Amino acid sequence: MTAFDYDLFVIGGGSGGVRAARIAAADWGANVALAEESRMGGTCVIRGCVPKKLMVFASGFPAAFADARAYGWQVGPAAFDWTAFRTRLEAELDRLEAAYRSTLIKAGVTIHDSRATLLDAHRVQLADGRAFTAKHILIATGGRPFVPDIPGAALAVTSNEMFHLPALPKRALIVGGGYIASEFACILNGLGVEVSQFYRGAQILRGFDDEARGHVATAMQAAGIRIHCGTDVMRLEKTAGGIRAVATDGSEREFDLVMYATGRKPNTEGLGLEGLGVEIGRKDEIVVDRFSQTAVPSIFAVGDVTGRINLTPVAIREGHAFADTVFGGIPTAFDHELVASAVFTQPEMGSIGLGEEAARTQEPIEVYATAFRPMKTAFAGQPDRVLMKLIVSQATRKVLGCHIVAPDAGEMIQLAAIAIRMGATKEDFDRTCAVHPTMAEELVTMRKPTRTA
Ligand code: NDP
Repeated sequence: MTAFDYDLFVIGGGSGGVRAARIAAADWGANVALAEESRMGGTCVIRGCVPKKLMVFASGFPAAFADARAYGWQVGPAAFDWTAFRTRLEAELDRLEAAYRSTLIKAGVTIHDSRATLLDAHRVQLADGRAFTAKHILIATGGRPFVPDIPGAALAVTSNEMFHLPALPKRALIVGGGYIASEFACILNGLGVEVSQFYRGAQILRGFDDEARGHVATAMQAAGIRIHCGTDVMRLEKTAGGIRAVATDGSEREFDLVMYATGRKPNTEGLGLEGLGVEIGRKDEIVVDRFSQTAVPSIFAVGDVTGRINLTPVAIREGHAFADTVFGGIPTAFDHELVASAVFTQPEMGSIGLGEEAARTQEPIEVYATAFRPMKTAFAGQPDRVLMKLIVSQATRKVLGCHIVAPDAGEMIQLAAIAIRMGATKEDFDRTCAVHPTMAEELVTMRKPTRTA
């Protein structure tokens, strides 16, 4: 007999929290409650990956229309109706939210549509004052966009607002050089918006392989995006016609929309963690061990709030591992090594493992790289080039990294990731017969290293 109201109380109904709640309840028979203050599904479903990818699809049609003409199709004048798209998008998000909710209910999870905070190591309080006890508490509160404190910051929007714009702007400024900034620069550009992107560093997409990010940046510029590196906003001012951005390069330009994508912060504030003994890190993240346990044994945390790798599939695996560990009696730690990811720029970038620069500081390597015009767009007379790149250990022959810049690179890297996680060597890649004609066949046909380092 338990003296607690619940075996598990989950705070946050995003990717990590929902998975943990469902597995604990449905697979392991735990008595679970979950509190969510906003919409079920969290950042990924409601204001992140899902609506973003649908916008990526929407923004790809002008290029597809141009290709279609080259392939002999007569395509009439096309126009984009933002309101029609947004209405459909909202309906799709409603459908997904309902699906998440019904999955939880079917699993037997009690849902509280409320903010929840911690009272102590075993007690949670809802916004209406009701309090519940739980043997275990899982914090899966995710993160939120961070906007630097510059004069006029309130004039800017973040990715949260991008899905609800009343109308598309004519001129947009995107600030930041990471995943979100680069993806939205491409989306808006594809939808016909005049896009400028300011990034404070020397090249966008810091942390990825230099050649791959250079390739993406060149393609983005060729598509019409004005990328200004080494440039940051000093202040934003409201003007009669829009928003003036005064930049560190001395320029003053006017835009209709300014979007900041300058990183995200874990949602740890105001949760009642102060004084409980839960360790909070330098970036406001909850510090956990490999089993997602905090310094307080009954309190666990998964997903973006822990600031490990901020990706939905990672949060899902952390949540699942937590449920298996605590309720299934199977100690499971998610392995954060060799996690593949894709940046949904146009072209996409898929990558796993080490970039060339990081790999060569670790050990002697061979680099295999090829850039070429893919059949589909070359036929249409487009200049687009794709990049396929493998980083190989000279000592073990293992493929240490794979970087693809190409349409559908996200799909390709998912499959390459299986081989690389299994420890495939360059010779394993070489023994694999090509699938022809494809872009990805280049991954198994690069015979000679481009360079060694
Ligand atoms: P990122 O950390 O990817 O990028 C933040 C960007 O903002 C960097 O270019 C950074 O510059 C810049 N920046 C940070 N602080 C400031 C500042 N004070 N002034 C000016 N510029 C600043 O964050 P995002 O917000 O793009 O994305 C958050 C996370 O969400 C990502 O890390 C990723 O894990 C996840 N995500 C994943 C996606 C996917 O899988 N496709 C899509 C979207 C998000 P610098 O490089 O100099 O630090």
